[in-house]
Amino acid sequence: MTPPGRAAAGSATVRTVLGDIPPADLGVCDAHDHLFLRSPRLPGQELDSPASAAGELAAFHAAGGRSVVQWTPHGMGRRAERLPGLARAAGVHVVAATGLHQAVHYPPKTLDRLRTHGLAELFVRELTEGVGTSGVRAGLIKVAGGYHGLDAHARWTMTAAAEAHHATGAPIAVHLELGTAPLDVLDLLCADSAVPPHKVILGHLNRHPDLTVHRQAAEAGAYLAFDGPSRAHHATDWRMPDAVSALVDAGFGDRLLLGGDTTTAEARSVDGGPGMPHLLRRVSPLLRIAVGEEPVRQILTVSPGRAFGAEWPC
Ligand SMILES: [Zn+2]
Repeated sequence: MTPPGRAAAGSATVRTVLGDIPPADLGVCDAHDHLFLRSPRLPGQELDSPASAAGELAAFHAAGGRSVVQWTPHGMGRRAERLPGLARAAGVHVVAATGLHQAVHYPPKTLDRLRTHGLAELFVRELTEGVGTSGVRAGLIKVAGGYHGLDAHARWTMTAAAEAHHATGAPIAVHLELGTAPLDVLDLLCADSAVPPHKVILGHLNRHPDLTVHRQAAEAGAYLAFDGPSRAHHATDWRMPDAVSALVDAGFGDRLLLGGDTTTAEARSVDGGPGMPHLLRRVSPLLRIAVGEEPVRQILTVSPGRAFGAEWPC
C-alpha cells in the first residue's frame, strides 16, 4: 500500500515536450528552471534566444543533467514550439508548463481576455491538446501566491488550476512570493479545492527559511522545491543545505526537489552566470556534505518523477 501523501507509481507518466515517459526515465532533474521567459518586470533580461537555450541545455547535460522542468506559464514567452527540437538536440527531457503568474507579469488586456474565455479551459487545453498550434503539451500547471497572502488574482488562478488538475491529474507548481504563504496555498488548493497535497509543488521555500513552516508544509504532504541558486543573489541561499537537512532528518527526504530557476539572461551559464549547470557543479555537492549521498540522489533522480508524474486522461 502506498503511504498517505505518496503517489503510487502505477501508470503515472511525466508529460515531456517529446511525449509521456516513465518517471524513472527523467534521470538527474532540474525540477524548476526556464529556457524561455519574458516579463515586463525584467526588461532587457528576456530569455528568448534559442541558441542560448541550446547552449544552456548542453552545459547542463555536460554537467550530468538529464531533465529540466520549465515553469514558464502562459503568456510569458514560453516558445513551446522550440522545446522539442532543443530537447532532442541536447538529449535532455524537457517538461513545459501551462498556468498563469502574478498579474504584474501581464498587460491588463491579456488578463481581461483570459477572464472572459475561461482560465481552467485554457489550462486543460494546453495540458491535453497542446500550447497554441505547437502540438506541444504542458506537463504541469504553474501558478503564484503573494507575499504572506493570496490576493484575488492568486485565488482566481489557483481555483482554475485546481479545476484543471481535477480534469487532467496534472501537478500544480506554485511560485511562493519570497517563499511565503505556503500554508495559505495548501489551504486553498487542498482544503478548499480538494487537490491531493502530493500533487502540489511549493517553490522558492529557500527564500524564507522558516524551518517550522517548511516542516508544516511537508507534513501536509506537499513537495517542497528548493530552487533559485542560479540567480545567486538571494540572501538566504546559504541556508538551503540546513533547511533540506532538517527536513531529511524529520523524515521528509522523499518530498524534496532542487531547481536552478534561471530567470534572466545574465544568470545563464552561456552568458557568464551560474545557470543550470551550477545546480550540479556547486549546489548538489554542498548539499551532499550536509545530508549525504543518498538523499541527494533521491532529490535529483527519484522525487522529480513522483512529483511530476500523473495519470493523464486518454
Ligand atoms: Zn521560476
